[in-house]
Amino acid sequence: MSSRDPHTPGPGPVAALRRIAFLMERRREETRRIEAFRNAARTILPLPDEEVRARSEAGTLTELSGIGPSTAAVITQACRGEVPERLVSLEKTSGPLAEGGRELRALLRGDLHSHSDWSDGGSPIEEMAMTAMELGHDYLVLTDHSPRLRVANGLSAERLTRQLGVVEAVNAHLGGEFTLLKGIEVDVLDDGSLDQTDEMLAQLQVRVASVHSKLRMDAAPMTRRMIEAVRNPFTNVLGHCTGRLVTGNRGLRPQSQFDARAVFEACAEHDVAVEINSRPERRDPPTGLIELARDIGCVFSIDSDSHAPGQLDMVDHGCERAEAAGIDPDRIVNTWPVERLLAWADKR
Ligand SMILES: [Zn+2]
Ligand SMILES: [Zn+2]
Repeated sequence: MSSRDPHTPGPGPVAALRRIAFLMERRREETRRIEAFRNAARTILPLPDEEVRARSEAGTLTELSGIGPSTAAVITQACRGEVPERLVSLEKTSGPLAEGGRELRALLRGDLHSHSDWSDGGSPIEEMAMTAMELGHDYLVLTDHSPRLRVANGLSAERLTRQLGVVEAVNAHLGGEFTLLKGIEVDVLDDGSLDQTDEMLAQLQVRVASVHSKLRMDAAPMTRRMIEAVRNPFTNVLGHCTGRLVTGNRGLRPQSQFDARAVFEACAEHDVAVEINSRPERRDPPTGLIELARDIGCVFSIDSDSHAPGQLDMVDHGCERAEAAGIDPDRIVNTWPVERLLAWADKR
């Protein structure tokens, strides 16, 4: 069910509803409208096929909670073995999100930065994992926020411990071909320390460290702060390093001021990947800084930073930028097989 695969006719009703939600999300349609399709999928998932078919023939699907006229139409058409009209029209938009970067995109095996509804994402962990698997990824790192980011419902050590149990349960169901990896997007505190205990960080497999507060700090203390975070032996990826916002409904934000050469030299020395954040409103780092990190010899990770399943495809944008900057795919850590990635991420 990848956006790149030719569409196979006649998906079942649950698959059709999920695929519609995914494609709407990719087009950045309104969350409330998208959720209607996911809710409908959840409603019919536990029902026997015969009941769904009988209700669709009798026109009584809308008696079920969570199913309205448009979701009922999709279910009815799928039950007849047709590709629902809604899906046919959305599939026309399912091509790559960016013009360039296709060769690099084909080499990506995973994504190191994603959020679930445990912090500020919109979907359950398993929905994120299933969609990443359907996109052809071998792995996805779940990186919900750390405690201090209260606005994003950051996870305490206790909640993160519970989440790790859920990650293990999801992996047990997925049967080994795809791995959901244990991770965090940990806040870089004002002094450069990380917003989670060492005991907890040690239980994770990949850690993205990001600055989310005091973005307007003076260049000298900001540089010290970022280098301190990069030198922390738990840090694997420096997330959206400038914090800028270039478009979108969250408004605009200038990039943080810091000595980028010093920070990227620290990344190269400590084998920390510079993230190419694929979100269109971030485009972080700016092109000049991607080129600087390239020339210094850093490794990179091209991340979606997705907060919903349909956003997992945004890596298309990051691939376009990395390819334009001429970055060798072998220096992009998420082109690596999972074993190599995990060996790189474990610095102990
Ligand atoms: Zn972030
Ligand atoms: Zn994030």
